[in-house]
Amino acid sequence: MSKIIDGRKVAEELKKKLHALAQDLEKKTGIKPGFAALRVGDNPASQLYVQLKGSQASELGYHFEEHVFPAWTPAEVLEAKIVELNQSSHIHGIILQLPLPEQLDKFHFLSLIDPAKDVDGLHPLNAGKLFQGLKGGFIASTPLGCLALIRTIHSYLEGLTVGVVGCSLLVGRPMALLMLQQDCTVWLAHSKTLNLPLLCETADILIVAIGSPRFIKGDWIQRGATVIDVGINRLPSGEIVGDVDFSSAQTRAGAITPVPGGVGPMTIASLLRNTLEAAFRYADQPFPLE
Ligand code: NAP
Repeated sequence: MSKIIDGRKVAEELKKKLHALAQDLEKKTGIKPGFAALRVGDNPASQLYVQLKGSQASELGYHFEEHVFPAWTPAEVLEAKIVELNQSSHIHGIILQLPLPEQLDKFHFLSLIDPAKDVDGLHPLNAGKLFQGLKGGFIASTPLGCLALIRTIHSYLEGLTVGVVGCSLLVGRPMALLMLQQDCTVWLAHSKTLNLPLLCETADILIVAIGSPRFIKGDWIQRGATVIDVGINRLPSGEIVGDVDFSSAQTRAGAITPVPGGVGPMTIASLLRNTLEAAFRYADQPFPLE
């Protein structure tokens, strides 16, 4: 049976460090890390995610504010709020919770966020830095969290074959680029990919983010591989499951993340890590975490 990668434990350890560093920063410079979330419409999942992000930011001693807008909000109103937050000296990290209502173009609004405060790493400048392998940007929190979980299993990544299933802007694409930066050999699959089971078997590390319950079966997985399941799917019964069929995967994988309790907690912890780094940069202090 495979080792279960405990995302909650890894996230708690990271958050302890963030809490201590946030206190040090405030003592030394008077700067309290500030995090703002923009949410448009009444998507219940978005509401829950922002609430979790906010409560955890507050637990770490950050200043947190949520700005909620009705679904019919005119573009200018949202633009004006982003500009205001960009200029605020109390706010160091800004996220725009996705999805946005259909009439609002996410790319337009994401590109208005000051790249120095774009802790979700979705501004074209930050996405471009990752593409070019440059440091000094922000990397989307889910891929960053996945890498931290992978590192609990692999101290040496160079040359390993990493398969990423799902190529979304938020998860799959930055994930593939981040693993390429670790000198892995990377493939990236999507809904048109042929022979996915055969491809999956080549992966020493398989990362899945597609939003399809229990889609990846155990016998697709290379024996001993590390499996990172990003998916969060609610079944009609109310049960939350991942994109990987956990029970069959467990008999093949060397290590695997559970859902819930795997990638989810690390996503939030990594977002809070990015926010703290943004505050350190604002204070012109070296950020001590990797
Ligand atoms: P998304 O934007 O809907 O993208 C899904 C990706 O999966 C697309 O690239 C799509 O391919 C691909 N795909 C769909 N069906 C496929 C199939 N049968 N075979 C291969 N590829 C397939 O989703 P997302 O935002 O990346 O999220 C994916 C999942 O992760 C969701 O369950 C979401 O809730 C979860 N998630 C979890 C966290 C966390 O913190 N744990 C964070 C973010 C997302 P095409 O491009 O060809 O359409």
